[in-house]
Amino acid sequence: MIFVTRTEHFSASHRLFNPEWTDEENARVFDKCSNPNGHGHNYVLDVTIAGEIDPSTGYVIDLKILKEIVLTSVIDKLDHRNLNTDVDFLRGTIPTAENLAVAIWNELSPRIPSGKLYRVALRETVNNIVEYLGPK
Ligand SMILES: [Zn+2]
Repeated sequence: MIFVTRTEHFSASHRLFNPEWTDEENARVFDKCSNPNGHGHNYVLDVTIAGEIDPSTGYVIDLKILKEIVLTSVIDKLDHRNLNTDVDFLRGTIPTAENLAVAIWNELSPRIPSGKLYRVALRETVNNIVEYLGPK
């Protein structure tokens, strides 16, 4: 088993808030992340593929193909967007790094050969990273 990771970057804004809560509850739970006018992050996304080496190519997956899948499925839709309003696959979710990582997995998984998507890791700040290994 070999792991291959493609890293991409995107910049986006968001506001963390639960619309079912009062402004006070949101401020208490999300603190400055619930600033009504939002704030931004420079996100770093790692997408890891696991598999065996194909003897005919020497690859687990062609990284040119993986790059294209990651760019067209998620990065193009997230980069320089407001995550609360602009991204179809985030509608109805609080755009935390956790929810983003799961949504990115769900977008990528049907486009990647079955069983090969191993990990989505999303770094929101230099201190905070979220990793999702799929729904198992
Ligand atoms: Zn934030």
